[in-house]
Amino acid sequence: MGAGISGLSCAIILERYGIMPTIFEKRNRVGDRFINAEAMFEILNRPIKDCILYIKEKFNIVLDPISEVNKLTIHSKNEKGNIIGKIGYTNIRGRHENSFENQLKKQVKSNIIFNSNYEYEKLCKEFDYIVLATGDGEYATHLGNYRCDLTCTIKGATVIGDFTIDNPHVWFIYEIIPKGYAWLIPFTDKEANLVIAYPDYPNNIKLDINNMWEAFYNLACNELKQSLRITDRFEITRYMMGICLRPKVDNTYFVGNCFGTISPGLGFGQFASILTGVYCAYDILGRGKYEILTKPLFKNYYNSLVLRRFLEGLDDYEIDKLVKNLNNKLINKFTNRICSNTISIDILKLTTPYMKLINHIKAHKNS
Ligand SMILES: Cc1cc2nc3c(=O)[nH]c(=O)nc-3n(C[C@H](O)[C@H](O)[C@H](O)COP(=O)(O)OP(=O)(O)OC[C@H]3O[C@@H](n4cnc5c(N)ncnc54)[C@H](O)[C@@H]3O)c2cc1C
Repeated sequence: MGAGISGLSCAIILERYGIMPTIFEKRNRVGDRFINAEAMFEILNRPIKDCILYIKEKFNIVLDPISEVNKLTIHSKNEKGNIIGKIGYTNIRGRHENSFENQLKKQVKSNIIFNSNYEYEKLCKEFDYIVLATGDGEYATHLGNYRCDLTCTIKGATVIGDFTIDNPHVWFIYEIIPKGYAWLIPFTDKEANLVIAYPDYPNNIKLDINNMWEAFYNLACNELKQSLRITDRFEITRYMMGICLRPKVDNTYFVGNCFGTISPGLGFGQFASILTGVYCAYDILGRGKYEILTKPLFKNYYNSLVLRRFLEGLDDYEIDKLVKNLNNKLINKFTNRICSNTISIDILKLTTPYMKLINHIKAHKNS
């Protein structure tokens, strides 16, 4: 259920070994949603150094990104810093013919049943296996198999301006977006996505999303020294960040966001979504155990949740200090190496115990 990136990745592998799945898609075509640019950063997928190459070499799934990311600019309230190196890739999602889901669709031979309104309960009785790939935790929640850690509100736009395609930007400015962040990802040198995302905590729900967006939009225009023209807008409410309790229950597999591939720390989920699709196919084919293959993804999720709590515990002054460090030559050299694909150190895993300790001390102080 679901012809998104996890469902289609699963189908590609099944077909390769002679199983033709029946694919049910709720919408009337693949990628039938707003066009947006997303990113894959190598540092979040360690020990893998290059996720696009890994998917190609290991699974023979070919994905063509829009661009490499060779520079990431981080903005805080009063500081700005850059990470330079081969950091990752950007790609397109949604209705665009070159979106990742459309690229995957071209690699699938099975028939896709569009405009499907089949319910899981019906399919469950009729098929040998069900792969739940609907892009959210709803079904897993109904089945009592999901823990939701937070939901987020996301508001974004396509903007026209002058951009350097291999240089996305990210903002951590809690004065405007409390406990959240914003990003700009170019998808051509004239078009980019400008997006804010923040958790739906009680103090944030009280805030007016339009005022928040306006304040951030004006700040982004100032910092990028241009007047960005908006051509398209989107808004997502209550975007679930959580994880399933069991990746497989009886004949049902939870993949992609149904599994919990979206990382709560920084909201990346594409690479893990493709992995869950492939691993689930391996299990159906008898080539691996889904529960075992997905174990590292559970660990990643929990590390990323620690990162989120750590980031939420900072204030603008502390974030300024961290970003300012990027301008220190020695620290910058070290960060560039850690973030780029020259080494495979899993910095998230290594720093999780430290962040956990800080989170614990802060929680103790506040109680
Ligand atoms: C605004 C935004 C920005 C993001 N940015 C990034 C980023 O920069 N980097 C990154 O790695 N990740 C990012 N993510 C997360 C990433 O997009 C997701 O983790 C990933 O797309 C999940 O893949 P999926 O296969 O689970 O779902 P999807 O690819 O969304 O596919 C789900 C499919 O299921 C279909 N469907 C839904 N319900 C049913 C049903 N009942 N029956 C049949 N079909 C159904 C849908 O129509 C859709 O086609 C972002 C997410 C959002 C919302």
